Amino acid sequence: MANVKQKLFQRNCNVPTSNGKDGIYAKSVNFEKGGHGKVNGVKERGQTRRKSLNDSLEGEIRDFLINEGELHTYDDLTKVNPITPTTVLRCLQARYSARVFYTHAGCTLVALNPFQPIPHLYSLDVMREYHSAPQPQEFKPHIFIVAEEAYRNVQGHVEPVNQSLVVSGESGAGKTWTSRCLMKYYATVAASAERCQETVARIEKRVLDSNPVMEAFGNACTLRNNNSSRFGKYIQLQLNGSQVLVGASVQTYLLEKTRVTFQAPSERNFHIFYQMMKGATEKQREEWKMPHDQTFAWLPNTEKTLEEDSFGETVEAMFSLGVDEVKQRQIFRILAGILQLGNVNFCPATDESRPCELDEESKDFLQKAADLLQVCAEELQSCLCVRTLRAGKQSALLKPCSLSECGVRRDCLAKTIYSQLFDWLVSFINNSMCADNSKWCNFIGLLDVYGFECFLQNNLEQLCINYANEKLQQHFAAHYLKAQQEEYVSEGLEWSFIKYQDNQGCLDLIEGSPTSVFSLLNEECRLNRARDAQQFRVRLEKELSDNGSLSWDKFSKKPHFTVAHYAGKVSYQIEGMMEKNKDPVPPELVQLLQQSEDSLLHSLFADADTRGTNTRGQKQVVTVVSKFKNSLESLMKILHSTTPHYTRCIKPNPDCSPLTFKREEVIVQLEACGIVETINISAAGFPIRIPYTSFLRRYGLITNVKISAELTDSGGSEDGDREALASAVEGVLGVVLKGRVPDSSARSDDKNTPN
Ligand code: ADP
Ligand code: MG
Repeated sequence: MANVKQKLFQRNCNVPTSNGKDGIYAKSVNFEKGGHGKVNGVKERGQTRRKSLNDSLEGEIRDFLINEGELHTYDDLTKVNPITPTTVLRCLQARYSARVFYTHAGCTLVALNPFQPIPHLYSLDVMREYHSAPQPQEFKPHIFIVAEEAYRNVQGHVEPVNQSLVVSGESGAGKTWTSRCLMKYYATVAASAERCQETVARIEKRVLDSNPVMEAFGNACTLRNNNSSRFGKYIQLQLNGSQVLVGASVQTYLLEKTRVTFQAPSERNFHIFYQMMKGATEKQREEWKMPHDQTFAWLPNTEKTLEEDSFGETVEAMFSLGVDEVKQRQIFRILAGILQLGNVNFCPATDESRPCELDEESKDFLQKAADLLQVCAEELQSCLCVRTLRAGKQSALLKPCSLSECGVRRDCLAKTIYSQLFDWLVSFINNSMCADNSKWCNFIGLLDVYGFECFLQNNLEQLCINYANEKLQQHFAAHYLKAQQEEYVSEGLEWSFIKYQDNQGCLDLIEGSPTSVFSLLNEECRLNRARDAQQFRVRLEKELSDNGSLSWDKFSKKPHFTVAHYAGKVSYQIEGMMEKNKDPVPPELVQLLQQSEDSLLHSLFADADTRGTNTRGQKQVVTVVSKFKNSLESLMKILHSTTPHYTRCIKPNPDCSPLTFKREEVIVQLEACGIVETINISAAGFPIRIPYTSFLRRYGLITNVKISAELTDSGGSEDGDREALASAVEGVLGVVLKGRVPDSSARSDDKNTPN
């Protein structure tokens, strides 16, 4: 416990801190306009008192607590006094202006994105410096402190020994960058000393090479980030008994597969498609049926040149992970097939009872797609345009699809192929990186997940993402409270369980049993009920209106529901939600792919279920939310079994411009990533911590206490000194809490006292 306290205080050399037991811990100081200041629940030597401070002390305490000129020197936000969103914001801004990008916030690290390369901050020398320091916590805040602390914990001084580094923040805040940075750190400090010749690349290289490959297939240029990850990931770095990195495994969450067939204006498809277009050799172009002047409907904004467009690097990294030339050819052919499919358009048949038709150009693209996917072109067309209805065990009814249904089926085919290919690639990477179970004993997990999302229109994707963030927030709060309480114990303070606004109610609303938004959505899918959005909304209201986290905007015409998340309220539109949850893939399409002559494509669907739903809808559906809930639950189990470290990335401006700090952008993120909540939890404890000596220097003259320079400098190192300081402080508090007003001359003298 002393360790926790020591760590908390060591981080924070430049600010007035509690020095061992020699400090005052107060619950709050409230300043009411023109009224009286209040010190609530001052806990001093275990006694709780509540009394008003005289107005005249207000300004002085305020001055004492916030020293503008020194704001950038505060290495830990929880030591900014008083801790309010405004003071925290001002502190971060001052630090950003001083080009200090990392700040501790209790047991969290806040990372501000500089949006420009800061080469000296992450060099190998800096890594070694943090790694070899006896007390890295004494250095300036840095992601390497977190990395090193986790690495040292694995040695077994802290329980549990396995570690999790949770990196969160909104899109473009720097999560992936930070994760990469952490992986580089471990690939450097935990690298094996052996330099043997290996047939495949060394494990550290493979672990690092998994990044460009996964980013090529899973990242895209969006309005908010040119290299936005469109999936969540948890990577476990496996260490052996000598703390050497011997392997890694990765788990991914919710790939945004809709991006394959739909890109919002000014956004792009996954990088890999552009890399292929730009990096292909003439031979590859021919094979992929991709002449220079060919444009593709699903490949907008090709004119943007991004550094991510590096095909060569992706191919190199794939080789290093063991994806050989044959496999690579198969992968790229399949991707080229998807692009061709995007140029297939349908037109209505002259006779309504007949399937939709294709014009000459579309026929050509369909043929190319079929060639690349190695399926029969006629069957491909028929699968896209005709639905097979199963009435009983044997008989099947063929029904032409409407024009829009044909488009939906085409998109569904492309999305299914892409997401299966992505999953296959992830499991290939796992096989390539994962160490034999007997070779590793501990791990450090890195979690890079999408942050809280609130757009103008939110649907099932945002509900899942925000649900994941609620879960993480709950985990964080529990951990943070524990750390705080350990600190109080080490300070010898009497404490009771800290109360704070916990988010269990919101989680119950989303995932609880027996009835929740998820369970009702699943029920709709299971019963295959063709309810409309409005009916579902009525059902939600009937079943869940008792839950205080659920509400509705009375003025909105669209069926929706609003959830009060810890990070703010989000309205979700119900239209399309049930369909998204079911995420149906027509069985004809799966059967078609199972017949592909391409062995990779064939294998992607070999085990897929093609029985489809019968007319009574009796098939057991595994919905998107159940899958997500299950994978999140296993992630939470892993997190609970580890010692967590939280890094909150902040995007200082929406334009990704270097060194620009927009207060209004940052405050929203502080709320969304839970820093404000952290502050609230901290405020539920004793956020105001004034060392005895600082307090006496300022207020000692209330009772005519003068403290010697010696004591001021040493902070009262001897036990006797401490006792003397403590009783002097008690004397001053005694006067203040009895409401006696110090005379005005004393106050004006005090103002002239230098800090
Ligand atoms: P996220 O994963 O949170 O969406 P990224 O990690 O992709 O965001 O970061 C977005 C961009 O910000 C990166 O491409 C990089 O240019 C820049 N960036 C992030 N962190 C840093 C950093 N510490 N130093 C320099 N640039 C950074
Ligand atoms: Mg990312």
